[in-house]
Amino acid sequence: MKLFTLGPVEMYPDTLKLAGRPLPYFRTDAFSEVVLESSDLLRRFATAPAGSEVLLLTASGTAAMEAAVVNCFDENDKLLVIDGGTFGHRFAEICAYHHIPFESVVLPFGTALTADMLLPYDDAGFTGLLVNIHETSTGQLYDMDAIADFCKRNDLYLVADAIGSFLADETDMIRHGIDVLIVSSQKGLALAPGLSIVVLSERIFERKVRAIRANCMYFDFNDYAVNAKRGQTPFTPAVGVVIAMRERLAAIDEIGVDVCIRNTARMATAFRERLCRPPIKIPSYKLSNAVTPLIFEAGNAKEMYRALIERHGIYLNPNGGQLADKVLRVGHLGNLTLQDHMELADILRDVCGHD
Ligand SMILES: *Cc1c(COP(=O)(O)O)cnc(C)c1O
Repeated sequence: MKLFTLGPVEMYPDTLKLAGRPLPYFRTDAFSEVVLESSDLLRRFATAPAGSEVLLLTASGTAAMEAAVVNCFDENDKLLVIDGGTFGHRFAEICAYHHIPFESVVLPFGTALTADMLLPYDDAGFTGLLVNIHETSTGQLYDMDAIADFCKRNDLYLVADAIGSFLADETDMIRHGIDVLIVSSQKGLALAPGLSIVVLSERIFERKVRAIRANCMYFDFNDYAVNAKRGQTPFTPAVGVVIAMRERLAAIDEIGVDVCIRNTARMATAFRERLCRPPIKIPSYKLSNAVTPLIFEAGNAKEMYRALIERHGIYLNPNGGQLADKVLRVGHLGNLTLQDHMELADILRDVCGHD
């Protein structure tokens, strides 16, 4: 069995070995040390500004998105949501659920976000923008320079869900003026699900998080920040995932985060070059290095999905909703090699009935 899915992904042998070890008790200096070291590496990999808070939540990525929204904004805010697929739409649903005023920039499938599309929202009273750097449901990697520019000239807080892009595409909180960065364990970090990370700039923490009552005890960021200072969390963390994350971050640091990103880019590019001839099509907008969406115009995506599992033990990532019959996504995250990708490209060409 081989996973080309987008979480969980193929894990590394050292991660699997750690999973077989007994877990330690966590209210100790030794565990605090693990958390503090990991937080420093995460800050560095995200190019976080000085004074940033790193909070560890025991929850999937969606909970981290929701926690970020309710800790940073309330009914006195007005948010702009980039809704270009399932995950962008989820931000809109979170705002609606919590009665936080918002408007959405809706992108139909196949449409690239451009700087021009943001112009109508200039000087319109917005206080924050919510975006998924990589909208994982479509593979689109947004133009973060354009978004950063919009946020700067309108003085907005920028919340960036990097769950689908961290360690696959460049992440630079300083360059893009990102105030909240959201990461989750089961994507680029190639760990078990259950741990999410929220990095907060000093500016949003001091001006918004401290002032807003999140109305949610489990995800009160003020409580997390106090605990994070000493390498702890208010409640029991996903101890095993935290320990595995420290090992993974150290391994990435040894190779260099830039090299890891380049390796993923190289695999994605080689895969696309080998595969993409008719009848297989990919979208024309800028793609994340994390994924290649395959468009099956014939509407046989579900059939292909099943055939790959039954004949080859290979799992691609199906799409839901309107794209279920047309799109399958190939993930490039985790413990996969260039060779794995070349073999998959050949299998796909074979399954699709072409040379
Ligand atoms: C995977 C993913 C999420 C998180 O989904 P969960 O299932 O809640 O972990 C959120 N945003 C993006 C962009 C993702 O790729």
